[in-house]
Amino acid sequence: MRDALAETGNVAPRREAAVELSVDRDNVIVRVNTAWDEFAQDNDGAHLRQGSVLGFNLLDAISGRVSKNFTLAVLALARHREGDVVFDYRCDSPRLRRFMRAHVSADSSGAVHYSHEHLYSETFPHMVAFRTATQRGRDTLMRCSICNHVRQAGLWRTPESCDTCVLNEVIYGVCPSCEQMLKECS
Ligand SMILES: [Zn+2]
Repeated sequence: MRDALAETGNVAPRREAAVELSVDRDNVIVRVNTAWDEFAQDNDGAHLRQGSVLGFNLLDAISGRVSKNFTLAVLALARHREGDVVFDYRCDSPRLRRFMRAHVSADSSGAVHYSHEHLYSETFPHMVAFRTATQRGRDTLMRCSICNHVRQAGLWRTPESCDTCVLNEVIYGVCPSCEQMLKECS
């Protein structure tokens, strides 16, 4: 839910409801909650509302080979261990740094349940907007789909510290620290 005061950049937005999604044993999306729809709507993802994601494979909704592999690794980990897989990530919007925590658990049918907990948000000092590139070009940057950092001139930087952070084209991957984080979960 978008907070009108937060839009001014003066007030930290309120905590948002957990966004939930479940896939069956074949990774087909079988359930999303009401908060999912609100989240999609608020993040220019109205096309991703409930009716349009149910029945689709989760991996088809994820951009980039490395991000797909990360998702596959999390799914495998959830299905082969007792208890939740928990990891923190960012899900920024152009105005907000949004700090999230994913809880991922499997049941005996092989279904996997994601609950995305909103920890807190901060407003960016300036607008930070990236566009997903349809293919990699000379100026395409890599953005980590977990921590949202961006690789520029060989260095992974916070999105707000990139030299050009409005409408730069990015492809999505996973940075070395997030890969390491997953290894430590397993
Ligand atoms: Zn990362």
